[in-house]
Amino acid sequence: MSASVQILQKIFGYQAFRGFQAEVIEAVTRGEDALVLMPTGGGKSLCYQIPALMRDGVAIVVSPLIALMKDQVDMLEDLGISAAYLNSSQTSEESQSVIESLFRGDVSLLYVAPERLMTSRMLAMIEQLPISLFAFDEAHCISIWGHDFRPDYGELTQIKERFPHIPRIALTATADPQTREEIAERLLINPKRFIASFDRPNIRYRMVEKTKGYLDEVADFITGEHMHESGIIYCLSRRKTEQVAQELQNRGVDALVYHAGLDQWERESNQNQFYERPCVMVATIAFGMGIDKPDVRYVIHLDMPKSIENYFQETGRAGRDGLPAEAVLYYGLEDVVQQRRLIDMSEAEDDYRLVMMAKLDAMLALAEDSGCRRERLLDYFGESTKHCDNCDNCENPPMTKDVTIEAQKLLSCVHRCYQTNGLGFGAGHVIDVLMGERNEKVLARGHDRLSTWGIGQGLSAKFWRKVLRQLIIKHYIQVRYELRNVLSLTGKARALLRGEESFFVRVEGMKKLSTRKALEHDDLNEDETRLFNELRAWRREAAQEAGKPPYLIFPDATLLQIAKLKPKTPEALMSVSGVGEKKFERYADAIFSMVAEY
Ligand code: ADP
Ligand code: ZN
Repeated sequence: MSASVQILQKIFGYQAFRGFQAEVIEAVTRGEDALVLMPTGGGKSLCYQIPALMRDGVAIVVSPLIALMKDQVDMLEDLGISAAYLNSSQTSEESQSVIESLFRGDVSLLYVAPERLMTSRMLAMIEQLPISLFAFDEAHCISIWGHDFRPDYGELTQIKERFPHIPRIALTATADPQTREEIAERLLINPKRFIASFDRPNIRYRMVEKTKGYLDEVADFITGEHMHESGIIYCLSRRKTEQVAQELQNRGVDALVYHAGLDQWERESNQNQFYERPCVMVATIAFGMGIDKPDVRYVIHLDMPKSIENYFQETGRAGRDGLPAEAVLYYGLEDVVQQRRLIDMSEAEDDYRLVMMAKLDAMLALAEDSGCRRERLLDYFGESTKHCDNCDNCENPPMTKDVTIEAQKLLSCVHRCYQTNGLGFGAGHVIDVLMGERNEKVLARGHDRLSTWGIGQGLSAKFWRKVLRQLIIKHYIQVRYELRNVLSLTGKARALLRGEESFFVRVEGMKKLSTRKALEHDDLNEDETRLFNELRAWRREAAQEAGKPPYLIFPDATLLQIAKLKPKTPEALMSVSGVGEKKFERYADAIFSMVAEY
C-alpha cells in the first residue's frame, strides 16, 4: 500500500481516493506544480493536505476566506494534524504563538490570506522556514475575467519567482478555459493539469418561472419533504432576503438571514445557527464562498444569477456529501431587466461590461432552454454528456412552440408605441395595449387607436410576458434602463418582422416542485431508520459538548452507513467512510453501544 493511501485511510478514514486525487498528490509530493479543477465537493483539500503531510516543512495554504480558516484548522486538528492560521482576526499574542510554533517545526499546514502572505515581513519569515508546498485555494480569484476577481491575488505571481523550487498547487471549482490559462500562467511553472468532470450527478436541476404564489410553493417544498434538512435561498438584494425570510417565517419555516449589511455579530450568529441545526439561510451571495457544510440539501435561487459560473458555484453548495440534493431556480422578466440594469449602471469598463452581459445572456438562455440542464451546463464548461434524467427537462420534457406570429405582433406593438413618443414604453404598458386594455394610461396616450391595440387578445398576459422576455434575452428588443426600462426594437428585429426568421418558446413541462424525497433513506428499514435517528440525536449532543457543528463529528453519509452496516467489530467500524483513527478513538464506544441495542 502506498504511503498516501495509508494516510488517507488511517488519518482521514476514507477507503479510496476519488477521481484523480492520487495522481495530484503524487505529482505535488514529487515536487511538481499542479493545476486542479474540480467541482465543489470534489475533494480538493486532500490534494494539498496529504502532500503537506508527506513532504518536509510547512505547507502554506493561501485562501481568501478568513472566516473559514478557523474551521479548516479545527477540522485538521480534530484529525490529529497540526495546523494553524495567520489572519487579521487574531490578537498579536495569538499570531506570535503561531509564529513560534512555526519555527519549532510543529506546524504541517499554515492557512494565510493573500494580503498577509505578501507582506515583506511574512515573506522574509517564510524564507527562513522549510516550506513543503504552496497551495492557492480559490485560484480563479486571480483572473480579471473570472467572476470573483480579488486584487490581492494578483500579488501572488511573485511567489513562483521568489520560491521557484517549491511545488505549487492551484485549486478552483470554477474556471472556463480562459481563466484556467490565466491561473496556470500567473501562479505556476509548467503545471500538470488535472481537470475533473464538473458534473454533480446528485444535484437535480430545476428552473421554474416565477408565478404569484411562488413563495407558497417554496414554503411547501421546505416544510414538506425537506422539513428536517438545511437549505440556502439566494436573493439578489439585502432587502429581499429580509422580506423573504419574514414571509417564510410566517409560513412556519425556520428561516435565517445573511447579508453584508448585517452587523458582524448577527452575521456570525446566524451563520453558526445554520451550521448547528437544520434550517434555511435566506441570503445574498455574500453568503457562500467557502460554505463547506456538506449536508445542504437544497439551494433555491429567487433571482437570476449573474452567470452560469455563479449559478454553478452557488448550486454546488448543495449535496457536497454526495447524497441527493436539489437546485431550484425561479426566474421572471423582471430579473432580466434588473440584472441588465445593474450591469449597465456599473462603473466597470466597457469591455468588461460586455463580458458580464454575455455571461448573463448565457444564464438566461439556460433557464429558457428545453434541453437537458446538465448537458447545457457541462457544455458551457467544455464538457459533453448524455442527458441525465435528473433535471426538470429530462423528467418532464417541455414542448417548444412556434410563436413567430405572436412575436411579430409584439414587436409591432413595441414599435407603434415607440413611435408615439420617440422613446418607448415599459413592458406593462405595451402588453396592455397588445391585449386591448382600456385603462387610464392607454386612453390618455390615445394608444387604443394604435393599429396594434388589441391584436393580442385571447392570450394571457403571462404568455405575452414570456414571449417578451425571450425577445429581450435574444436581443430583438432592447430595454433602456436609464429611461425607466422603456422598450424599443433593435436592428435584429427586422428579419423576424419580415418573416425571414422563426421564433420558438418553450412551454412548461414541470408542474410541481415537490415530487420526491431528497434524501433517500428508503433503503433503510424501520429499525435502521430508528438507529439512524438515534445516531443523529447522539451526534447533536456530542456536537454541543464539543462546541462544534454536528457534521464535524460525522456527516450524514457516515451515519447512514453505520445504520445500514450496524458494525460490531473495530474493523467493521473502521471500514465506514469517514471513520479514521481519531474519530474511532473518540466515538467508537458510543456507537457500539447504540448498535448493540439493535
Ligand atoms: P472541495 O474543496 O473540492 O469543495 P472538499 O475537499 O471539502 O471539497 O471535500 C468534500 C467532501 O468530500 C469532504 O467532506 C471530504 O472530507 C470528502 N472527501 C474528500 N475526498 C474523499 C475521499 N477520497 N473519500 C471520501 N470522502 C472524501
Ligand atoms: Zn437532464
